[in-house]
Amino acid sequence: MSDFFVGGEWVAPRRGGRREIRCPADGSLVGVVGEGTREDTEAAIAAARSAFDSGPWPATPAPQRGDLLLRVAELLERDKDAYARAESLDTGKRLVESEYDLADVAACFRYFGKLAGNDAGRVVETGNPDAFSRVVYEPVGVCGLITPWNYPLLQVAWKVAPALAAGNTFVLKPSELTPNTAILLMRTLTEAGLPAGVANLVLGAGAEAGAPLSEHPGVDMVSFTGGLATGKRIAAAAAATVKKVALELGGKNPNVVFADTDFETAVDYVLTAVFLHSGQVCSAGARLIVQEELHDRLVDEVVRRAERIRLGGPFDPSAETGPLISADHLAKVEKYVETALGEGAVLRTGGRRADDARLADGYFYLPTVLDNVRQGSFAVVEESFGPVLTVETFTDEDDAIRIANDTHYGLAGGVFTNDASRAQRVANRLRHGTVWINDFHPYLPQAEWGGFKQSGFGRELGPTGLAEYQEAKHVYQNLRPGPSGWFRA
Ligand code: NAD
Repeated sequence: MSDFFVGGEWVAPRRGGRREIRCPADGSLVGVVGEGTREDTEAAIAAARSAFDSGPWPATPAPQRGDLLLRVAELLERDKDAYARAESLDTGKRLVESEYDLADVAACFRYFGKLAGNDAGRVVETGNPDAFSRVVYEPVGVCGLITPWNYPLLQVAWKVAPALAAGNTFVLKPSELTPNTAILLMRTLTEAGLPAGVANLVLGAGAEAGAPLSEHPGVDMVSFTGGLATGKRIAAAAAATVKKVALELGGKNPNVVFADTDFETAVDYVLTAVFLHSGQVCSAGARLIVQEELHDRLVDEVVRRAERIRLGGPFDPSAETGPLISADHLAKVEKYVETALGEGAVLRTGGRRADDARLADGYFYLPTVLDNVRQGSFAVVEESFGPVLTVETFTDEDDAIRIANDTHYGLAGGVFTNDASRAQRVANRLRHGTVWINDFHPYLPQAEWGGFKQSGFGRELGPTGLAEYQEAKHVYQNLRPGPSGWFRA
């Protein structure tokens, strides 16, 4: 079972652990991969450390590093079918969604490949003709990259591409549930010519194979995407060695719909905002906040359309969305809905597993609408990470903004209105890292992504996404050296 990539070699986990990967759509066996322990991760950290301290990659001129990333993008496109298939088998998501994801992964490598080539540092005006000053951007060092299962390769790409562009070495620990595209990526990076030891991969459970990446003194930075509770644990562990930390955590994202909006557009986007990938999207628009006078008509239509969403496996061409990732996650979503109903939410549709015999072997949960949820209640505050829409109402613009910001998260939000000035006013006042106007979900590799408040800190993508993986160094030179005379001779 040699699927760990350490120091440029494919190796087996030291203690020989194994894990079965099964497709969540039907329970079929996708493959068996290695299951690592701390020792494996420590060996990978040592390899990344030695490649950073003595290796050619940090010293490679940035434009050449950029060229390698552009080559990676080409190889990903060449092998897109194998990647998309592997992603769909691991996650259960529809093949067409994995194909879109793969195109986004290639675009991410291409963006950072080009950005690396333009990263020249800058000369700083000193105000002194006898001094010269410049700021250069250097890699942080060894990066620990920890990623979740919902967009497995995309989340990996958002970290690996800028980390490499900046000249770092890394140890990647993808979600234990969806490791296969990360394994493929190591092959692609090698084929593109990345020197040995720069990219390292270990697999396994977070508390065992992941934890050393936040604790070990040999790691300079840990970048994590995943749940809030894990993020807190990682930040606390990283504090002991004062690592640089980047956290992309969850969200309970508001979707604010004004009564003046185009009705059909709003219905369509309310559905895609929350039910895309069965709600397993950190930026899912899981909180519908609708103006009072539109509530009944909008919710009735959303319910009618939600009941027609067809669930199915990755290769069912008629499926519109897929399963939840695991039995554990399915049980969590069931519990979430139960708790919400216990506090008085009104179940308008869903609220149970799919009972279609065709789906019996998968983890399918019906699109669910919970109306009449109370502000500050569990269902409004907590993320379900499943296909569950909660509904709240507002009276006017100020009320909408107050409700939409009344959350400890701040990842993303949407606003639907035909009043362009109002759209901009609301966007300006929402305390969320991304705001969509009359749309939901699009993101661009050239625009920063990340959270306010407890949705995390640091940014992925955009120029800031590269800066996360850099240290700024100021180099100041006295052009006329001589004693300063500050202290008497
Ligand atoms: P998770 O926090 O359980 O796991 C994420 C990763 O962390 C996995 O690789 C896991 O093995 C690892 N991990 C767990 N415990 C660890 C520890 N103690 N030390 C080191 N690593 C550890 O999250 P998940 O269930 O995989 O993903 C769902 C969560 O991710 C949701 O909350 C979602 O909102 C969030 N998410 C956020 C974004 C974003 O961009 N902000 C994107 C995708 C997912």
